Amino acid sequence: MKVIVVGSSHGGYEAVRELLMDEPDTEIQWYEKGDFISFLSCGMQLYLEGYVKNVNDVSYASEDEMRAKGVSVFVEQEITAIDPDNHTVHVVNHQDGSKRDETYDKLILSPGAVPATLPVEGNDLENIYAMRGRDWAIKLKQKTVDPDVHNVVVVGAGYIGIEAAEVFAKAGMHVTVIDVLPRMLATYLDEEFTDILTKEMEKNNVKAAPGQNIQRFEGKDGKVNKVVTDQATYDADLVVVTAGIKPNTKWLEDTLELTSGGLIQIDDYLQTSVSDVYAIGDATLVKFAPTDGTPARIALASNARRQGRFAAKNALGYKKAVPSVSGSSALSLFDYKFASTGVKEGTASDYDVDTMSTLVTDSYRPPFVPEKHGNAKVYFKLTYDPKTTRILGAQIMSKEDVTQNMNVISLAVQEKLTLEDLAYADFFFQPDFDRPWSIINVGAQQALRDVE
Ligand code: FAD
Repeated sequence: MKVIVVGSSHGGYEAVRELLMDEPDTEIQWYEKGDFISFLSCGMQLYLEGYVKNVNDVSYASEDEMRAKGVSVFVEQEITAIDPDNHTVHVVNHQDGSKRDETYDKLILSPGAVPATLPVEGNDLENIYAMRGRDWAIKLKQKTVDPDVHNVVVVGAGYIGIEAAEVFAKAGMHVTVIDVLPRMLATYLDEEFTDILTKEMEKNNVKAAPGQNIQRFEGKDGKVNKVVTDQATYDADLVVVTAGIKPNTKWLEDTLELTSGGLIQIDDYLQTSVSDVYAIGDATLVKFAPTDGTPARIALASNARRQGRFAAKNALGYKKAVPSVSGSSALSLFDYKFASTGVKEGTASDYDVDTMSTLVTDSYRPPFVPEKHGNAKVYFKLTYDPKTTRILGAQIMSKEDVTQNMNVISLAVQEKLTLEDLAYADFFFQPDFDRPWSIINVGAQQALRDVE
């Protein structure tokens, strides 16, 4: 069996890994149009802040390692077209300009996405950057030590924008984060959390500028020097645009069924509209567990990797439906660590669900444990269906790391558990780690009182 895998980031890497684990004799051709395989943008902040010294280490696999495992790795070689009738792909080799066709038995596509650009005047000025992939990582790193950069404007207050803001604030620059939504991190956390985080940003020299629309970028000598919104003008020596992503699928328009947003249509088995062609990762939708598997756009490495496994299995002939996901994610912002999963009050209107939420605060460990010995306040908000008490999602935040609790809630969402299930669920207690009632017990017990 010959399997061609397109794209070498999370989805592609995991598909190759699964093929090797399940059927090591599979003939695997792995294609990457860039000049480096398996760069992980998830690790970019660690590189930009200097914890990882070499940009090439932000990767899971090297070409040599994968070749030693029998994979034919093709770098700077782009798949530009598929001919499903003849089971062939068209390859352009960017190293020497040559072109050829390759046959496949099965084809797994993980072409991912590219950062969206803002369609406004001045968007082609110098020093307007994005934050995704190895090339941007190298360019951004240079700016963290550039003595000419004093003011950084980040456009987009999602996870990536917040990472960019923290990087440049820690590098001593004055940072402004602009978003069209009324709050920072609005799609990840409700107001009780983002109010605290916004204060934390301001304490650390990051100005939050929510609820503003970018009108244009202005420049001098070809370089950006101002960002103009519908409400204010900000000085900028560097702009980092993190305002969404665009799927890398233009080349597939004539071959595969795509959504109106250009995402590849897939079924529960990751099969596209064409037989023997599978698609995974940021160029696809996932099934959202809180709404029993309705399609949702949740561009996460965790999702791409899960899909990669299932696509590989299905390509090999096992018929395995990919499970739904709750959309769990975690991040830190200066002293705070937070995570969320499933539906939040702020996003409930995007889904056809009735919600009610309960917020509880507690200390991480028993009150007698001093703060400097690792105690801190924990904020936990549980969202559920008020009629059935089914768990739909949750958010958590603390200066201690309590984020793993969201993995429990993610599973609860996936398994359709209720408040009753969580209120008295058996969770360990040890004063070095938590309270006699876990924060999940406390939240569910309070929620049960709230719904009565
Ligand atoms: P991509 O990562 O977009 O990679 C696609 C690859 O395919 C690219 O290398 C591209 O060059 C190649 N390619 C595309 N078309 C072709 C073609 N025709 N021929 C050959 N090659 C092609 N997610 C998390 O879960 N946790 C995190 O902490 C996290 N942090 C992030 C931080 C940042 C700064 C960013 C930008 C993203 C982060 N993400 C995180 C999201 C995560 O990186 C993406 O969900 C994940 O990379 C998606 O993987 P993918 O395989 O779908 O595509």
